[in-house]
Amino acid sequence: MHAYRPDALTVWENPEVASRLSHYRAVMEGERPPRYRAAKRFPVDYEDRWGLKELLEAHEEAAGGFEEYYAEVAEGRPLGREVEKSYLSLKVEIARRLIDPCRLCEWRCGARRTRGERGVCGLDARVRVASAFLHWGEEAPLVPSGTIFFTGCSFRCVYCQNWDISTRPSNGVEVTPQELAAIAVKLYLMGARNINYVGGNPDQSLHVVLESLLYMDVDVPLLWNSNMYMTPEALSLLLDVIDIWLPDFKYGNDKCAKRLSGVDRYFEVVSRNHEAICRGGDVIVRHLVLPGHLECCTKPVLKWLSRNCPRALVNIMDQYRPEHLVARFPERWPELARRPSREEVEEARRYADQLGICWRPVS
Ligand code: SF4
Repeated sequence: MHAYRPDALTVWENPEVASRLSHYRAVMEGERPPRYRAAKRFPVDYEDRWGLKELLEAHEEAAGGFEEYYAEVAEGRPLGREVEKSYLSLKVEIARRLIDPCRLCEWRCGARRTRGERGVCGLDARVRVASAFLHWGEEAPLVPSGTIFFTGCSFRCVYCQNWDISTRPSNGVEVTPQELAAIAVKLYLMGARNINYVGGNPDQSLHVVLESLLYMDVDVPLLWNSNMYMTPEALSLLLDVIDIWLPDFKYGNDKCAKRLSGVDRYFEVVSRNHEAICRGGDVIVRHLVLPGHLECCTKPVLKWLSRNCPRALVNIMDQYRPEHLVARFPERWPELARRPSREEVEEARRYADQLGICWRPVS
């Protein structure tokens, strides 16, 4: 039985929210099953002995059929029974291959994670959860959110607010897929409106997340809260199981991304991935206004979103504060050693209005 809280429903009276998050809402209210429940019932013909290339081809082929199947399910076709060789089990098999050598994110560092090697993100094949709880501080349509924080991250943000788990992957508790499923189900039973996979960053833990879905079968929407630096292969595994996306779009250019988060090719990778999730998914993009980065980051990101993700809601966040390395060595990133001014945040929001971006209900 899902704990339903009518007091938190006022945000849904806003037609902009209701239309842009229509799939998520339908799942949350039990009008249609979450995608992952359909994916584990959609049969796919494949053999575990196949190579990665063949498995990826089978996955691509199955994607079209699944889209049609899920459209019928959304219209009321009964789900039926779980099948052993399913679209979801194929995803799990592919994810196992993608971590050895690892190419889950665009570092493509090639760590042999199943052999115990750690990648740039600091993780081997094991996945650790730092905390899991009902989060009331997320965007209004999401609360209470059943938030699961994974350790490790593919970014090195000098201002990271979760540095204790992103830079210390050994924090937290190791979880098996079964244990992770039990955590998600418990959050659901406590009244979570969604299961929110976050970190650190969740992308590098997706092999265990996908496998955990084989061990749960409850009607709760799944949410992916990511820096969006995953590879297209990794993203393709998530596309048909995630019901709502909560991606970060931080930088408007590669120079700021390299200087502040230590990654290459930021804009190309992150815009590519945003385009893919915005093609049909329900999306709330988060953009954190960084002090002194209005012209180089905030405005280009908002402009890009208005042109390429017009259906997305955008949370223009004003809560930046100097943390982590910036707090310790402010002289290295002097522009970040303060909070954004009210003028900067107002200008960002005015600019979003000019572009026709829908930000008010979630910012
Ligand atoms: S997820 Fe980690 S191990 Fe995999 S490619 Fe990225 S940094 Fe390397």
